[in-house]
Amino acid sequence: MAEDKPKRTEISQMGEFGLIKHIQKSFKTVNASTKLGIGDDAAVIDAGDKYMLLSTDMLTEGVHFDLSYTPLQHLGYKAVAVNVSDIAAMNGIPKQITVSIGLSNRFSVEAVDALYEGIRFACENYKVDLIGGDTTSSQAGLVLSITAVGEIEKELLACRNTAKVNDIVCVSGDLGAAYMGLQVLEREKLTFQENPNMQPQIQGYDYIVKRLLRPEARMDIVHELRDLKVVPTSMIDISDGLASEIFHICEQSGLGMNIYEENLPIDELTYSTAAEFKIDPNTCALNGGEDYELLFTIAQDDFEKVKNHRDIHVIGYVQEASKGINLVTRAQQAVPIQAQGWVHFNKGNA
Ligand code: ADP
Ligand code: MG
Repeated sequence: MAEDKPKRTEISQMGEFGLIKHIQKSFKTVNASTKLGIGDDAAVIDAGDKYMLLSTDMLTEGVHFDLSYTPLQHLGYKAVAVNVSDIAAMNGIPKQITVSIGLSNRFSVEAVDALYEGIRFACENYKVDLIGGDTTSSQAGLVLSITAVGEIEKELLACRNTAKVNDIVCVSGDLGAAYMGLQVLEREKLTFQENPNMQPQIQGYDYIVKRLLRPEARMDIVHELRDLKVVPTSMIDISDGLASEIFHICEQSGLGMNIYEENLPIDELTYSTAAEFKIDPNTCALNGGEDYELLFTIAQDDFEKVKNHRDIHVIGYVQEASKGINLVTRAQQAVPIQAQGWVHFNKGNA
């Protein structure tokens, strides 16, 4: 008798977020100190007077970075910065990290030193202590996993699910630069592969290349918001692209948003490079990803406090879920924002 074929569901059918929800479904938390588990930028643990924050991010060679154009020092720095960014996204202050590495025999002690030089520089910059980790061999190239621990006064915590109707939507810095930096580096890599005598031409693209290879976590914004006495009503960091993060806040808060295209902060070099590549710069800002800027909502009463801040941009407002999640174009048309990603969104553009 033929046996029933075991069920097989492709992970690609579910997607990353679907898979995380699928895992989450079968776990309940049982400890009173677990204030917030899966679903935000960091887990929140009751530590008495304060909350402790905990976040992990893994970077794998060939998926998250390409060593043909990524200096190991930058990679070490970035691996710390992206974890600190998740602590920042809770409005918290990072304190400690652990670093786990998987290495193949392609890597020398000098290579490990270069990686840790970047890690050390980031530790100094963000004032975090390296307190442990794990070292193992890998057959799949370099794997780097960092866990960051942070602290926050309980009343300052900013989660994804607490935005309110009529709140103002803000974003720090500028968007889409890292994506354009990646396009430049990929183009130069291809040129080099076709003709190894050609030198990579990245002069003039410094800002966007740096945004990809060595991003900063926006701890400066966290500190400045504290100085201004503004506690965001919700917050997330932009790792997958503005559109995706907007969806997370809206979905988890059960609300909608209107975002104004003309208010999207885009650097001039991102703009001109997007034009060179015949890519719509708004698409880069919405779906590019790896910006590591902060997306947050504030109460209307706090608007006066941030409106003149050089690096905080008001991009829209929160509304009822029934009104949708829209991009209001320069022609004042409300177009539903799609979060499926680049390919879908790029249709008809450029
Ligand atoms: P971020 O982009 O902010 O790092 P992720 O999208 O990676 O966040 O993760 C979203 C949430 O899902 C986080 O709370 C994270 O801890 C949790 N998560 C991700 N992967 C897993 C996993 N394999 N098992 C349990 N929780 C996970
Ligand atoms: Mg995050």
